[in-house]
Parts: sequence; C-alpha cells; structure tokens
Amino acid sequence: MERGFEYVIVGGGVAAGYAALEFTKRGVSHAQLCIISEEPVAPYERPTLSKKFLHPESPARLPSFHTCVGANEELLTPTWYEEHGIELVLGTRVESVDVGQKTLLTASGETMRYETLIIATGAKALKLEEFGVKGSEAENVCYLRDLADADRLVNVMQSCTGGNAVVIGGGYIAMECAASLVTNKINVTMVFPEAHCMPRLFTPKIASYYEDYYQSKGVKFIRGTILSSFEFDSNGKVTAVNLRDGSQILADMVVVGIGIRPNTSLFEGQLTMEKGGIKVNGKLQTSNDSVYAVGDVAVFPVDLCGRIRRLEHVDSARKTAKHVAAVIMEPEKTGEFKYLPLFYSKAFSFSWRFYGDNAGEVVHFGDYLGTKFGAYWINNGHLVGSFLEGGTEDEFEAIANATQLKPAVDDLAEVGRQGLNFAMTGNKQIKSHTPSIEAGTSSPVVETPIYPWHATAGVAVAASVAAFAYWYGRRRRRW
Ligand code: FAD
Ligand code: NAD
Repeated sequence: MERGFEYVIVGGGVAAGYAALEFTKRGVSHAQLCIISEEPVAPYERPTLSKKFLHPESPARLPSFHTCVGANEELLTPTWYEEHGIELVLGTRVESVDVGQKTLLTASGETMRYETLIIATGAKALKLEEFGVKGSEAENVCYLRDLADADRLVNVMQSCTGGNAVVIGGGYIAMECAASLVTNKINVTMVFPEAHCMPRLFTPKIASYYEDYYQSKGVKFIRGTILSSFEFDSNGKVTAVNLRDGSQILADMVVVGIGIRPNTSLFEGQLTMEKGGIKVNGKLQTSNDSVYAVGDVAVFPVDLCGRIRRLEHVDSARKTAKHVAAVIMEPEKTGEFKYLPLFYSKAFSFSWRFYGDNAGEVVHFGDYLGTKFGAYWINNGHLVGSFLEGGTEDEFEAIANATQLKPAVDDLAEVGRQGLNFAMTGNKQIKSHTPSIEAGTSSPVVETPIYPWHATAGVAVAASVAAFAYWYGRRRRRW
C-alpha cells in the first residue's frame, strides 16, 4: 500500500498537535496533512502526566487534555482531526525515512510519500540499563514519558498507599513525581548524584528553598550518590534499592527520572545533527530543504543566548510547531523563529517560571522565607535570565519582558535590592512595546518585534526609548 501527502508529521505529541492547529488556521486543505504517531491516542498535553493526571482526587483523563488546551486553545479530539481532513495514523511507528526519495515506511508496512516532512519525534526516557543497572522491567519500577507510563504509574501508586517509594533523579520528573507521590500518601526518598535538586537550572539557594519544603512534607533527600542495583523478591518485584555509597533503602515502588534522549535515529546519517538533536536554521529547516524539525528533537538558534540550543520544554515545542506551520504555509510572510526560552513547573502549591538563559552571575531577590522570590542571571553585563516563584501574571510578564530586552546591568547589588521592581518598573516605560502573552502559559509570543528600537520603531518609539534609557541611566544600569 502506498499513499502520498503534501505534508507529513512524524510523531504525534505536543508539537504535532500545535502544528496541526496552525496548519488549519493557515488554510491547509483536506487530505493534505498526515500525522503518524506511535502512540495510540491523539496528541495531548504531556505536562499533565506528572501533575493533574496523578492527583488522588478528580485526576485529569483524556479527552480533557488533548492539545491545544494547555495554551487555552481548541481541544483537538480525534473527531477534530477527522472534521479538518487531517489523516491521523495512530499506534503506528515510522520504521525508516528516506529523505532523498521523500518516502517513509511504517511498521504496518505502508510506504508513504511526502512533499514536506516535519520531524516531531520528541524524546525517550533514559533507562537505568544505560548506567549499568538492571531492573527497569520490574512491575514496580516506573518511568514517565507517555500516557501508557502514566497509567502504569497510577496503578503502581494505588497499590502502594502508605508504602515507600524511591525516586531516582533530581530533575523535573523526580521533583514533580515526588510531590504527587506524597499527595498520594506514599513515603518518598529521592536519590540523585548532584549536591542539590534541579542542578540544570536551580542555584543552591533556590534548590534549598524547595528541598526544605519537600522535607517538611516528609520527603527524604539522599544527595551525591546513585543507584547501583536493585533487590528483587521471588516474583521479580523490587524490594530495595542499593546505593553506590553502600546504603540500602527499602522500596515498594521506584520512579526513575534520569533524563531523556531525543528520537533522532531515523535520520542519523541523513541530516546534520548537533548537540544530540537535529540541527535546524531560523526557519526550522534541517540540512535537507524538504525536512523541518520541531520540539524536543530540534536544535535551533536562540538569539538571546547567542548560540544554538535544544530545549526540552513544552513552550518551545508549541511555538516551534506553530512557527513551522507558518513557514511552510506562508513562507513569504514568515520570518525567522525568535524565541525567549520559557521553563516552568508546578508542584504542591508552587509555581515558578524561568525565562532566558541561566548563564553568568546570579542575583537572588525576594523573600526566601516566604512565598515570592526569584533570581536574575547577568552575563557579560546584561540581564539574560530571570526566575520567579509565586508571581502574578503581571509579574511573570514583567520578568519575561525585562529578560527579552537584555538590559545592561552594571550594579548587581542594586538589581538585587530592587528585586522584582527592577523588572516591574522598567517595563512600565516600555509597556506598549512588550510582546503579547499567550493565554494559559503566559509565555511571550516573540514573533512580534523583540526590541523597541528595532527597524519598525518610529519616532514615538525612539522618544520613549530615549526617555527610558535616561530614566534607567539614573539608576546605574542600561537597557
Ligand atoms: P513529544 O511530546 O514527546 O512527542 C513525540 C511523539 O512522537 C510521541 O508521541 C512519540 O510516541 C512519537 N514518536 C517518536 N518516534 C516515532 C516514530 N518513529 N514513529 C512514530 N511516532 C514516533 N515541559 C514544560 O515546559 N513544562 C512542564 O510542566 C512539563 N511537564 C512534563 C511532564 C512530563 C511527564 C514529561 C514527559 C514532559 C514534560 N515536559 C514539560 C516536557 C514537554 O512535555 C516536552 O518538551 C514536549 O512534550 C515535547 O514535545 P514534542 O512534540 O517534541 O515531543
Ligand atoms: P532532567 O534532565 O530534568 O533530570 C535528570 C536528572 O537525573 C539529573 O538532574 C540527575 O539528578 C539525575 N541523574 C542522572 N543520571 C543519574 C543516575 N545515573 N542516577 C540517578 N540520577 C541520575 O530529566 P527528567 O527529570 O528525567 O525529565 C525528563 C524530560 O522531561 C526532560 O526533558 C524534562 O525537561 C522534561 N520535563 C519537564 C518538566 C517541566 O519543564 N516542568 C516536567 C517534567 C519533565
């Protein structure tokens, strides 16, 4: 069997869902677009799996969290795809792609032709076996990447109420799952090799705030060591975790969150790879003109950071996906992808956001004994990153805008003293030029001009920038 489509998306996760919506907004015709996904369900908001999906009361279940509800847009149920003439091929793995011939082969034996291919294959969870530990297949060892994993985690969790869970890792999955396990009345011990949790982003001071709170909820932290092996009972269930430091922890269940690897293997040797992902240009186009890549798998230029980056976060998956549909459907009207990185997390009653790049020196601000605090990252004399816990929408918007403007900072202590006001007051001066905030995620849509003094700026803008620069100059920092 052989079929052909104008546009084919390989992978049916977050990026595929947002791309589909944008394709329809931009007038894709019936039977032009096909999405092929290994998962048996239509694209959904993956972040829900480690949050509301694990709630003991009224947990989220499909269809309520199909894309694109995470950005307060339409809920794309399987019927939506049908009504819009989008071919959704579910439960089907793409086994190979020939980018020279513009064909792909699915696990069901179908060969498909395409004119344009969008790679949205995301990533897979790293397995313990990659670190020389056996036991991932045990029935009470859980990973969390897709809906099947989440269903399994819920079942294991429900069979362990009052018992002990060991969470391996100190990153996003570990922190969010640990909070959910505690909420489900399970005793949690977290084990990770670093000196504090969330080492890829948090400073020791930020980490210590969350670790203290988790400890107050009963979570134990074992830092600076890793798992060396499991103990099993006669049914093959894990009963204890042996650590490299020689200690042992009893376990009724284990949750593993030790990072991911992008799904690039279909394209190895065919497309240019970098930083573990598929390298794309500002139009999200790979080294082959007919092939684009978005989401977790794509390595793209991020101007604010001054380098190419691969991001593993939902906001960038959504926005690269929307942008690629625009590039493909309206090439002459669509510029390069301009992006301000946004990472966020929610656990217990916490909610934080980080914008930009966590490079350079850090200035902490706010009340680290209370509920609202943050940090700025200053690199080469410019603000490049901002973190805020417990902010209002206005405050999150303010730190996003300030970060995007990359103001010069020559007095770190003064910025620390001003704290949130540094971003809030600065933004008032440029309010009319700030990028719009996408509903639901409060992430700035930066396809609009970034800097007020960019080419489109007129006299009024120049005047306000001058006033603004003067105003800020008086406060010993320059935007
Ligand atoms: P994915 O959403 O992973 O989709 C990839 C799809 O491609 C999958 O359906 C996969 O089965 C399919 N696929 C892969 N290979 C093939 C193949 N050969 N053939 C067919 N199909 C294939 N980010 C945040 O910013 N905030 C959060 O709170 C947050 N929470 C998260 C919680 C969890 C539990 C997880 C796992 C991730 C979370 N993330 C979060 C990260 C975010 O979900 C990802 O960045 C995002 O899903 C990436 O989107 P994607 O479309 O690139 O990949
Ligand atoms: P991660 O990269 O956030 O954390 C991995 C952690 O694993 C490291 O911090 C380290 O502590 C630990 N680690 C590494 N090797 C280890 C070993 N051998 N033994 C023990 N610990 C080890 O990855 P993750 O938490 O697994 O998350 C997976 C993916 O899902 C990431 O892409 C992440 O961005 C995404 N995610 C994001 C969010 C969010 O943005 N709120 C939430 C959940 C998941």
